Amino acid sequence: MSAAASTSDVLVIGGGLQGLSSALHLARRGCSVRLLEADYCGRHASGVNAGGVRTVDRHLAEVPLSVAARALWHRLPELVDEPAGFVPSGQLKLAETPDELLTLQERVATLNVMGFTHERLIGPAEVRELVPSLTPRITGAIWAEDDGYAYPFGVVTAFRRAAQRRGVQLHEGTPAQRIERVGSLWQVHTPQGRFEAPHLVNTAGAWAGEIARQAGEPVPIEAGGLMLMVTTRVEPFVNPVLGATGRALSFKQFGNGTVVIGGGLRCKADAVARHGEVDMLQLARSAHTVTDLFPHLQGLSINRAWAGVEGFMPDQIPVIGPSRTQPGLVHAFGFSAHGFELSPIVGQIVAELVLDGASTLPIAPFAIDRFASSTPTTRH
Ligand SMILES: Cc1cc2nc3c(=O)[nH]c(=O)nc-3n(C[C@H](O)[C@H](O)[C@H](O)COP(=O)(O)OP(=O)(O)OC[C@H]3O[C@@H](n4cnc5c(N)ncnc54)[C@H](O)[C@@H]3O)c2cc1C
Repeated sequence: MSAAASTSDVLVIGGGLQGLSSALHLARRGCSVRLLEADYCGRHASGVNAGGVRTVDRHLAEVPLSVAARALWHRLPELVDEPAGFVPSGQLKLAETPDELLTLQERVATLNVMGFTHERLIGPAEVRELVPSLTPRITGAIWAEDDGYAYPFGVVTAFRRAAQRRGVQLHEGTPAQRIERVGSLWQVHTPQGRFEAPHLVNTAGAWAGEIARQAGEPVPIEAGGLMLMVTTRVEPFVNPVLGATGRALSFKQFGNGTVVIGGGLRCKADAVARHGEVDMLQLARSAHTVTDLFPHLQGLSINRAWAGVEGFMPDQIPVIGPSRTQPGLVHAFGFSAHGFELSPIVGQIVAELVLDGASTLPIAPFAIDRFASSTPTTRH
């Protein structure tokens, strides 16, 4: 006779921010929730990212979600019942040439036609007012003054504690090895025993493709590495988070004086060993970009560099939505390097899909079956 299964209304696979946010929103709406995490919560992308809370330069399909998410960031203590460390520093996307400025002008015009005014075009003088130490060659920028940043592991901890206070059972060190639908229930098999629930949520990050495959809907998700580096402390010189238009760069100075440098710096990831491999040469090139913009930083030392593993979709936008092949299954994965900002709203969407059968936000572009005509594989 097999041991009794652990039961709940909902089972969440994956304890990154999307899983924790989903579990919290579901628990706030009265569900009993168990969350299964292979390692520990926040061990992967959600705990090691750059903490950018950025609506700027989003894929147009993501704009409504990112704006709704940002509103939640500003009220995060209401959601997680404690200060979560969001810093509303604003974000600037810089143009360094007339052509880049044209690109930014076109972006803002498109957003305005869509009814969004959160990204505002500003001239070089206003950029210099915001960041006086910046090189004078800047031709303009997009300014999103309500954007900002937060400390990733602090945010994970706040979501984790809030979920637990609302009764969510966290099962860390519990990888979901096999899922199957038996009658009206999902059964999830783990080395720690069997879990059962009528609803299953797949928030397994870079590894979510395997869960989707087992549900009969394989997707072309790729596990990729993303790198960051952090400098030693330096006098305060920049308040907003900065991004560039013509090169891969995003960086911010934290309150303690250290500068975090990233901006979609891709590297190799080993999805089986579950780690990313730091590429020092690429990091060196990126460091030069920073000293190009801020010549006074020449000579500043890099203190630490690291890489995390992220799930990338071919079109760079996530899968968020119900399964097209199975009842009682919702997916939210493949955030392609920008899921931290979206996490508060993703949990709300997942809870709506589980409990109401539809979301109040426009999620049609994120449907899992949009890849149906392409080669359905999980790539590592
Ligand atoms: C270096 C770096 C910088 C980034 N910077 C930013 C940024 O500035 N702003 C931004 O918006 N986004 C950023 N991102 C992206 C952001 O971190 C991710 O999009 C987001 O954290 C994804 O959250 P997740 O919950 O989907 O994935 P994860 O955090 O990877 O969580 C998924 C979890 O599922 C678990 N899991 C997997 N398989 C199983 C299984 N079978 N059973 C149980 N558990 C399982 C994993 O152990 C993992 O903990 C960055 C990412 C990286 C790596």
